[in-house]
Amino acid sequence: MSQSQGPVVLLAPLTGPVVPLADVPDPVFSGGMFGDGIGIDPLVGRLVAPCDGVVMHLARTGHALTLTTAQGAEILLHIGIDTVELAGKGFTPKVPQGATVRTGDVLIEFDLDYVASTAPSLVSVIAIANSDAFEIVERPVAGMLKAGESPLFTLRARGGAAAEASRQATHVTEESRQQITLAHAGGLHARPAARAREAARGFDARVEIRYEGRKSAIESVVGLLGLGAGEGATVEILGVGPQAAAAVEAVAHELLREAHGEVEEKPARQSSPAPQQVARVPGAPLAPNTLAGVCAAPGIAVGTIVRWDDADLDPPEAASGTSASESRLLDKALASIDAELNKTVREASQRGAVGEAGIFAVHRVLLEDPTLLDAARDLISLGKSAGFAWRSAIRAQIAVLANIDDALLAERAADLRDIEKRVLRELGYSNNTARELPDEAVLVAEEFTPSDLSSLDRTRVTALLMARGGATSHAAIIARQIGIPALVAVGDALFAVPEGTQVVVDAGAGRLEHAPTALDVERARTERQRLAGVREANRRTSQQAAATNDGRAIEVAANIATLDDAKTAVENGADAIGLLRTELLFIHRQAAPNVDDHRESYQTIVDALGGRTAIIRTLDVGADKEVDYLTLPPETNPALGLRGIRLAQVRPDLLDDQLRGLLAVRPVGAVRILLPMVTDAGELIRLRKRIDELAREAGRTDAIEVGVMIEVPSAALLADQLSQHADFLSIGTNDLTQYTLAMDRCQPDLAAQSDGLHPAVLRLIDATVKGAEKHGKWVGVCGALAGDPLAVPLLVGLGVTELSVDPVSVPGIKARVRKLDYQLCRQRAQDALALDSAQAVRAVSREIWPQD
Ligand code: PEP
Ligand code: MG
Repeated sequence: MSQSQGPVVLLAPLTGPVVPLADVPDPVFSGGMFGDGIGIDPLVGRLVAPCDGVVMHLARTGHALTLTTAQGAEILLHIGIDTVELAGKGFTPKVPQGATVRTGDVLIEFDLDYVASTAPSLVSVIAIANSDAFEIVERPVAGMLKAGESPLFTLRARGGAAAEASRQATHVTEESRQQITLAHAGGLHARPAARAREAARGFDARVEIRYEGRKSAIESVVGLLGLGAGEGATVEILGVGPQAAAAVEAVAHELLREAHGEVEEKPARQSSPAPQQVARVPGAPLAPNTLAGVCAAPGIAVGTIVRWDDADLDPPEAASGTSASESRLLDKALASIDAELNKTVREASQRGAVGEAGIFAVHRVLLEDPTLLDAARDLISLGKSAGFAWRSAIRAQIAVLANIDDALLAERAADLRDIEKRVLRELGYSNNTARELPDEAVLVAEEFTPSDLSSLDRTRVTALLMARGGATSHAAIIARQIGIPALVAVGDALFAVPEGTQVVVDAGAGRLEHAPTALDVERARTERQRLAGVREANRRTSQQAAATNDGRAIEVAANIATLDDAKTAVENGADAIGLLRTELLFIHRQAAPNVDDHRESYQTIVDALGGRTAIIRTLDVGADKEVDYLTLPPETNPALGLRGIRLAQVRPDLLDDQLRGLLAVRPVGAVRILLPMVTDAGELIRLRKRIDELAREAGRTDAIEVGVMIEVPSAALLADQLSQHADFLSIGTNDLTQYTLAMDRCQPDLAAQSDGLHPAVLRLIDATVKGAEKHGKWVGVCGALAGDPLAVPLLVGLGVTELSVDPVSVPGIKARVRKLDYQLCRQRAQDALALDSAQAVRAVSREIWPQD
């Protein structure tokens, strides 16, 4: 519409007394969210046009409309409070949308009595929706107004580009609101808040979320967190502006998408996968003061929380430079962290690690949060140092969160704490004080690295808790090897459990109780003792071979990575070494091991085995396993890239050196070579040829035993072909599960679903055994599934004859095998192939073969 200049004079659209905007009984209006304006408490059920204009928008429910004047002012006329709920009842629009109207024309008639008795209030609002472009210059403060006669107020166009842009706009202002219930775990915490903010972006609308009398603009994630809207909270989403409905819809959709589990934050908290199942029913509420995680190493522990990486950083309060220079320091630190986070998000997205990308994307959003930045800048202007200002701004928000009664708040505070630390470190503050561990330390970290774990004082650590990670990630594997109860994928809530808190960790049940009663502690200690008793009984028989009670022999071997592990394996009665992960043996090296390094390391291990054989796997680096001495070319999908044996395509020298070292180990026959990530028989034939060449070179004339890892679905499907050229097959269920279910084994969000007892994985195991049997070859399992008591009967039933598990699990698995009836296992394993989910398989197994 063409626009004219000059003031806009409005007459009262309703008859009744004036209600100042601040007194309108709805914070959306009184807070000015719809723009500046005025309220009228109507005495007559008729709304008339306050000026000439076009009805740009008429609510479907007939309770409100927007009139645009020739000058471009957008005037919202809204009858009553929350009248959208009346769904049109009681309102009769007298003009259609798009109508041109003149001052005094009747716009809507309404049933005063009906509205008064059903809506929270009759007070109606006249608001200038584009208040950035028009200001009210004269307005009545009190008194009685008569519709179509009494002057209401005069509007004048503001100057400036925003106003101009607003005047150019041809769209209409609308209001929209929706109530939704946050059904997902954690409620409106940082990640959904940030996603909701993103959803609203780009719409021409101001959006706000309200909850229990509090409200926050959608732009401030910190503000949204401060609402304290937890799981089950019903929040209201309000939008005002030309695209309000679309914006509100987008935000609601985003939040409901979460609620319906499409972007479930932490399914890991609701149920748990291999190797030990969390007994929690999906969706069942957690007991208070309890956090759920995924079991990485079973066991019960009582101890005190110690943050592994969380010594507090303490910047000086006073600035050493001017406010301007402190401000620049902060900006620089923020920019650099932002760039770092951006890179992390990109890389995580490329890897498909959606959850991880989401977490760091939220941290980027927090770095630019207006609430935090304003507070920090204010403090800097008062002479505080950049570090102090930043920390105080964050702490203030954490304190806001602490005042909200919500059990899952921790999760939100943790996001803030994370960025607090990152920025402080970037500003140059660090704390390297080495800390003495207390007795019974329960160590907490985002995710332990293999080197963290290898340097642990194992006598003092009773449990390991990780916010991230998956049950088959390497951190979890190492935790199991150490034999310390461990939970992974607990989530950020873990970081809110204060240092020094006494906790009970029931790793097998996937539970962390962070405010246990004396009785809980006593029970946990009793259960720990009982389990220790069972373990002791198992240990007494662990040096004997295991067979099912109807005579099927099952070799129980150990997965190891070091000489120490080898010794533990022997002590625990391992019949052999089923998998030596050689990449972990050399993980800290700065240079690739040479032939002698290889030979020496393997020889020492073989010497420690007292005549037992060792299956030694060639280097399996790539994807989640990185070694210091090798910088692999960046790949978009490292898990699908130059992993395992494929590395030889670009670095054949590394494989040759390792094979030469392996072939030099004595006695001949003590070592079997295992090849990781084999895809098909052609690949195996080439590798076998190379092994034979190198064996000849080394003067070996005996047959070298070569096995193939079955960890890629193609290998399982081609097991019969592979068995023609391999001496044995060893199923790597960690990767086989990852590649069969297309779920990253290190992705905490998928930790609960990424279960090796999935019928699809079981079918591939079945196919592997059947393929191998055709050529008389044996099949073992060296993935984490082999050490899962619920999986053992099924693996045995499918025909697997070797289970290679963590050294400390050997006695328990042997004891488990001895209780089985092979014929029953066979029948039930075949039945399990027809089940429709991993949960169903677990349930059946639990029922037929209950655990101690
Ligand atoms: C496996 O994938 O199951 C396996 C045993 O190998 P890793 O865990 O070392 O990848
Ligand atoms: Mg593997």
